[in-house]
Order: sequence, then C-alpha cells, then structure tokens
Amino acid sequence: MRIALFGDIHANLEALNCVLDDAEKHKCTHYVCLGDVVGYNANPHECVKIVQSLECPVVKGNHDEQAAINDSLEGFNPLAEEALNWTRNHLTAEDRKWLNDLKMVRQVRDFTIVHATLDTPHRWGYVFNQLDAAASFTYQTTGVCFFGHTHAPRAYIKDGAIVSVALDKITFEMGKKYFINIGSVGQPRDGDWRAAYTIYDIESNSIQLRRLEYDIQTAQRKILEAGLPRRLADRLAIGK
Ligand code: ZN
Repeated sequence: MRIALFGDIHANLEALNCVLDDAEKHKCTHYVCLGDVVGYNANPHECVKIVQSLECPVVKGNHDEQAAINDSLEGFNPLAEEALNWTRNHLTAEDRKWLNDLKMVRQVRDFTIVHATLDTPHRWGYVFNQLDAAASFTYQTTGVCFFGHTHAPRAYIKDGAIVSVALDKITFEMGKKYFINIGSVGQPRDGDWRAAYTIYDIESNSIQLRRLEYDIQTAQRKILEAGLPRRLADRLAIGK
C-alpha cells in the first residue's frame, strides 16, 4: 500500500492536479493532506473540492483557519493578508465550514499528522532547526509524524540526539523517531519551484520525496487575472 502525503497546496490547481496524477501513476491508493489547502493562489474553491473528493484525512493549516472565519487578520504579512481577503470572497459558505471543521492534529494508521508543530499546533510556529523540532518530539507519541507549514522539505531524526537531513528517500528504523516536513505542493520555498509531495510505501516502510514540474505559467496567469498581487505569481517561479 502506498500513501500520497501532500500539503500547502495554497489554491494552486495546476500543481495539485500534477501531484495527484503522479501519485496515481505511482500506485498510491490512499491520500493524506497536511493543510493549507487555500491561500495565496487563484483556485481555492476548486482545490477544496478536489481534496474533499479524495475523502482522506486532512488537518487544518493557518490559511485554512483564517479563510474560514471573519476576524481581522493578525500575524500575516501584507501579501498573505491581501490573498486571504481575496480567498474569503472566493469560497462558498460550505467550503468555509469544511475548512473550519478540520482538526489540528490527527493520527492516521500508526503515524501522526499536523500542519505546523506538535507542541503548540494552534500557534502556528515554524520548525526550521533541531531545536524547534525538539519541542515537537516531546509531544510525538508515534514513531513518525508528518508536518508542513515551512514549505521546505526536511527530515528530523531523533536517535538520542536530533539530526536534520535533506528529505529524499528514508527507510524508517525501529527505535528512532521521525518528524518529516513533506514540502509544499503549491508554493515551494526551498529555492526549487517544482511541486513537492511524499510517497509513503507501507510494505517497505519507507518514504520518497517527489518533485514535479507543473504548468506554472497557467497558475501565474490566473493569479494576475484574479487581481492578486503580482509578487505571488513571481515567487512561484523562484521557489521562495
Ligand atoms: Zn502554507
């Protein structure tokens, strides 16, 4: 059995379709979504509908949370704020209710999923290093936990000390704990513009990061046509 883990889609329909096509080609039969389905890019409603159609476990991201409510936006940079105001106006009431009802943390089979951190999932902190990861490991009761939020794939492995390694292919070993950032489908920020997701092969107990070229020109054109900030289109091409 193979599971496609994907998140930080951020309303990028072209990247999402590309990832789901690739997952199907690679014989994934199950899906797990790590949140931030919406925000930044031009197809929030379409992306919500597709993720719903997968009937898979989904956890809530900070953009999902803010898109679902009417409060003034706090803690967001001006670009994210402008995009979130636009997003709120381009989701149905049903979309927003679905986003609002998402859970913060879930256990799926024998692993955990969370958007940002396990220690304070509601506060949307960022895990950028071993020290940040250590706080989450304290709350991690399963051997493996997948997360997102930074839009940069990375693996933190706890075997006594915590080491941080680039995410490529990893075979899980007994006695070690793994806190894995699977990267972003719709707005990568690790300097690589290609869409990212991760395949978990249950039989071989291993994961593999996938990077995919997608129709970025269409995604960029839609951002401009929607009247969203040009900077959001430009950043897709540089992966930042
Ligand atoms: Zn995000």
